[in-house]
Amino acid sequence: MIIIRNKIELGSFLQLQRENGLTIGFVPTMGALHEGHISLLMEAKKQVDFTVCSIFVNPNQFNDKSDLARYPRTPEKDALMLEKAGCDVLFLPDVEEIYPEEDKRVFDFGKLDKVLDGAHRPGHFNGVAQVVSRLFDIVQPDKAFFGLKDYQQLLIIKALTKQLNLKVIIVPCAILREKDGLAMSSRNMLLNPAEREAAAIIPQLLSDAKSLLKAGKNMQEVKGLLESKLSKNQIYKLDYLELCNASDLNSINSLNKSGESIILIACFVGKIRLIDNLVIN
Ligand code: AMP
Repeated sequence: MIIIRNKIELGSFLQLQRENGLTIGFVPTMGALHEGHISLLMEAKKQVDFTVCSIFVNPNQFNDKSDLARYPRTPEKDALMLEKAGCDVLFLPDVEEIYPEEDKRVFDFGKLDKVLDGAHRPGHFNGVAQVVSRLFDIVQPDKAFFGLKDYQQLLIIKALTKQLNLKVIIVPCAILREKDGLAMSSRNMLLNPAEREAAAIIPQLLSDAKSLLKAGKNMQEVKGLLESKLSKNQIYKLDYLELCNASDLNSINSLNKSGESIILIACFVGKIRLIDNLVIN
């Protein structure tokens, strides 16, 4: 695996690969890698000839600066994991490389960036769009791989590529989970042992919500029941628990009969905010 920090160098190196007829797959990350990230790389390796993974903690997508300061960084371990998994190039730019000047672009995603994480983290998805459009511009991938764990982000990226008229194919990848069901996340390593154990309630709430909805309860009733479960322990603070159409994230009160529905949750466990979701056919 080659590690490249400079975008011009990466651009010319990838141009050579393209001239050799290779297709390029891209896995953007913020590092502190876990098996969920590696599963995206494995999917990329199945679908393309040449893989690029980036690690860049994007300051523009953190509305909470203390969240940015505490975001875990494990670059040496990440590089070893990627090398072992057979990644071809690790792109490791610093902030000046990505933002030589301030990015003032404001994207319009309609309602999509105003709900759920968009409502709770103002400016977050605009920052995501800024960095992903810059990374796509540098890497010019044939395919880019994103986790369904960040479902709203995935819809934003799809909208972004449409808006910018990009050729890249966005490939959604399944959520990898720990044994107790907790979705793998870089933020999990910030949890202390008691919080880590308590965090397993998040996937349980999603599956409880699914069962209750399938049994005919509406989402308002489900929320009431599950919120009272959470309120028993002060370690939790719920940001949202919503049922939406999976296609556009419009809020609904009972399961969509003609398309997919999705239950999405964001919940603090101690100081750490975790998100998860469950798609229901
Ligand atoms: P992050 O480093 O958290 O920005 O994530 C980088 C990419 O990995 C995003 O496309 C995420 O959706 C994806 N990802 C994060 N956690 C998981 C997981 N548990 N399973 C699958 N993909 C994930």
